[in-house]
Amino acid sequence: MKRSEYDVVVIGAGHAGCEAAAAAARMGMRTLLLNLNLDTVAQMSCNPAIGGVGKGQMVREIDALGGLMGRAIDATGIQFRMLNRSKGPAVQSPRAQADKKAYQTWVRRAVESIPNLDLRQGQVVSIDLEGDAVRGVVLQSGQSYACRALIITPGTFLNGQIHLGTAQYPGGRSGEVSAPKLSESLTGLGFRLGRMKTGTPPRIHRRSINFDGLELQPGDSPPEPFSHFTRSLDVDQVPCWLTRTTEATHAVIASNLHRSPLYSGQITGVGPRYCPSIEDKIKKFPDRDSHLIFIEPEGRDTDEMYINGLSTSLPEEVQGEILATIPGLEEAEMLRPGYAVEYDFVHPDQLRPNLETKRIRGLFLAGQINGTTGYEEAASQGLMAGINAALSLRGEPPFVLNRWEAYVGVMIDDLVTRGTEEPYRMFTSQSEYRLLLRNDNVDERLMAYGARFGLVSPEDHAHWTAGRRRIAEAREHYRRTTVSAATVSRTIPGAEGTADRGYTLEELLRRPELGIADLEAFDTGPSLASEFAFRLEVEIKYEGYIRRELEALEKRKQLEAKSIPDSFWHRDLNGISNEGQESLRRVRPVTVGQASRVRGVSPADVGVLLVHLEANRRVASQPSQGGA
Ligand code: FAD
Repeated sequence: MKRSEYDVVVIGAGHAGCEAAAAAARMGMRTLLLNLNLDTVAQMSCNPAIGGVGKGQMVREIDALGGLMGRAIDATGIQFRMLNRSKGPAVQSPRAQADKKAYQTWVRRAVESIPNLDLRQGQVVSIDLEGDAVRGVVLQSGQSYACRALIITPGTFLNGQIHLGTAQYPGGRSGEVSAPKLSESLTGLGFRLGRMKTGTPPRIHRRSINFDGLELQPGDSPPEPFSHFTRSLDVDQVPCWLTRTTEATHAVIASNLHRSPLYSGQITGVGPRYCPSIEDKIKKFPDRDSHLIFIEPEGRDTDEMYINGLSTSLPEEVQGEILATIPGLEEAEMLRPGYAVEYDFVHPDQLRPNLETKRIRGLFLAGQINGTTGYEEAASQGLMAGINAALSLRGEPPFVLNRWEAYVGVMIDDLVTRGTEEPYRMFTSQSEYRLLLRNDNVDERLMAYGARFGLVSPEDHAHWTAGRRRIAEAREHYRRTTVSAATVSRTIPGAEGTADRGYTLEELLRRPELGIADLEAFDTGPSLASEFAFRLEVEIKYEGYIRRELEALEKRKQLEAKSIPDSFWHRDLNGISNEGQESLRRVRPVTVGQASRVRGVSPADVGVLLVHLEANRRVASQPSQGGA
């Protein structure tokens, strides 16, 4: 292979691109990773944090599949917290503050150290095709690279336009260029593009904050790692602080709304519903007299502080006025103003479930370009695109995760089946199988795949497989071991009313007031590491709910198992509503389950679809006449 020839080229070394390139290269593909600027590899465009509700689960999933993000944040996190610890296991999610620069350095090092992965600076301006297959890319400098698969992950840079008050200028992020040519190239290839927007808050100097009276938010003690492969986390954690907007804040914003590009008509792209700007919050929730603001450090070696909750594109001087109305920030010294960025995205219903475009063979898209928002959403798509690019070049079947296997599966299914008109962000509520997609059982759901693709080492996989065996043994012991009512009453304060019979440890653990640690008083059974003990406790306590989800899943699986060949969509679909036909032909779902989730397809349409599929199957299985 010549120096300028690659199996896989990845455009963009952000969160999606780094995962994509690392996976493809580690699966044996000679890979090139291109970025506009090598100093911005894996940069966090917005908040210096990884994880959160739904997102934290995705990081664990990336990690179990052998991706980078979990290990990167463990190595560079400065504060770790488990969110929703007091709530049910389905919604407990890890989140960590990152040292932003250290995070970038860690990921860049990881990428650079992969043997058949080359990292280069350059802006891709066009895509070369041969027939309907991708053949390579051309850079602004005129340099070209040939490839057999291309993964595009340009984030907010695709025709990015920055807005700050009435000022607007091209840029993918503050201080960086935009990539309009790549957008033109995609439109030229026939893709439908849309426009979205996102925004970021101002950053201020630590010395200008009055911390007196602000609520301190420390990390968990002890901190829990994200990665399955981090054996221990020895970290000197830093605190964050909480404050609130005031009536004066809201008055400043209300009187300047006409100067916000969001409300002056300057911005037309749709913004993230769940990460709204402060202008949006004031406008949409006029009855709320205060909103929470978190003050988060950007790293250990900087005094820059991120003002989480104050995303805005109001003019710079108005941002100063807003800060001055917030307790603790009265004297705030603004280092960077907040701003909004509008960018192009590709409607994701033009993708197959393996993230390859339907239009062009060998062309994969991942990250913000598919209409999502967030580092975790981007990274998980990048990983899936990297794995799938490698599989397709090896001639192997695509790797598609089901909705009941992973949040990553839920997200990709939502995107390719239903498309999205607003920035898509992962929440646990997007899944119909939340109790199956818990944070504590990710290894069981996904690690075997990571091991199969060579992205998780056999030793790491063996460690977790052994852990699962120990859970099963402990479960059996809990089922078999009985304690008398007298022992229960003597050992557990408040359990005096226990009826006079024997109790299995499993029964006792089902009691809401008891946890696995309480049972140690009776038990001489196998000891479990804390991560496995927690899973056993969840499995026993929530057994009934988990069983119900599994039963619903069994019914669902029958529809998901009915596959639809791509050639089927050329057939006459008589009897299916016009809207249903149009939507189905556009999305071309690969299973009946997926078809049932397409927007505009009714349950009646699915019934007729099943009849057509049966007819199609009968025709296909008839022996052909004549021949030798
Ligand atoms: P990015 O991380 O943006 O990486 C894209 C990479 O592609 C860049 O490194 C760039 O140099 C490179 N690139 C682009 N075009 C080319 C080209 N033609 N040739 C070569 N390289 C190219 N997410 C949230 O969850 N919540 C938020 O509140 C939030 N606010 C945001 C505010 C702002 C102002 C911005 C910019 C982003 C915000 N995000 C937010 C989004 C978050 O940053 C992205 O979702 C995430 O970074 C997307 O990852 P990605 O890998 O798709 O793209």
